[in-house]
Amino acid sequence: MDEPSDLRVFAIPMRTRFRGITVREGVLLRGPGGWGEWSPFLEYDDVVAQPWLRCAEEAAAGDWPAPLRDEVAVNVTVPAVDAQTAHAIVRRGGCRTAKVKVAEPGQDEADDLARLEAVRAALDADGPGGRVRIDVNGLWDVDTAVSSLPRYDRAAGGLEYVEQPCAAVEDLALVRRRVDVPVAADESIRRAADPYRVRDLEAADIAVLKVQPLGGVRACLRIAEDIGLPVVVSSALESSVGIAAGVALAAALPELPHACGLATVQLLTDDVADEPLLPVGGVLRVGRPAVAPAALERLAADPARVEHWRARLARVSHASRVREDRARG
Ligand SMILES: [Mg+2]
Repeated sequence: MDEPSDLRVFAIPMRTRFRGITVREGVLLRGPGGWGEWSPFLEYDDVVAQPWLRCAEEAAAGDWPAPLRDEVAVNVTVPAVDAQTAHAIVRRGGCRTAKVKVAEPGQDEADDLARLEAVRAALDADGPGGRVRIDVNGLWDVDTAVSSLPRYDRAAGGLEYVEQPCAAVEDLALVRRRVDVPVAADESIRRAADPYRVRDLEAADIAVLKVQPLGGVRACLRIAEDIGLPVVVSSALESSVGIAAGVALAAALPELPHACGLATVQLLTDDVADEPLLPVGGVLRVGRPAVAPAALERLAADPARVEHWRARLARVSHASRVREDRARG
């Protein structure tokens, strides 16, 4: 079917199944500032998908704050794979920080500890000093977190932090008071009705911010300022177009003490840019990659999926406009 030149639907196979998906789909929207990415996950409803659209529209308008740095340190992301694969991913990634998924349903603690030991060995092969962080995605209860974390900390040769050990922000606060490992909040910020409960309950040491779910670069800068915690900018598994928005946020933050989770184009088999936003020497350069017309052709979703995304975009755009009109009174 014929697509307007300012809207493209892409479908990119993943290298490894990650957060339950094997193909990453999304929309690229072009405006006066360039391309913006809108790629809310398929199971998200229209209300949840609205801030994701604001992020894409901000990018397409070219409305990003000025960068304060020209490169951003990033972590390699290690899915819930076996130890040998984890080792290879870290070696190939070339980053000095690794973020490791743990607590995957169907796996047990021994799988996690073997993966962490392999990641530590892979980092140490380049000399000591690499950092390891884990992401639990809220799958532990408080007691499991408190009893497990010392073993995970040992296997990793010291954890930089544990991300979202429990689902509820109240539980994060309890865990934080009972363990030595710093706690980072992710879902408790981007999925919460009130992201500032993390601050008010002193539930975390670090805030993980993602530009699409939180409504764009400028919205995240405001949250960062109000929440008063060090920020780790992470991706929502975007193509290089979406990653560029995360990089713009990381580049605009006054301080950036931790590596960001923006090297996830590594998890995709292909990209919409000829020069993807992949780390070199553990850092991403700040800037917007040029979208390649040939890549858009190669990665174009099939017509049924294009129809799905166009209909979804029409609904969410309409709902967003209604919301804005109401906000204006
Ligand atoms: Mg996370």
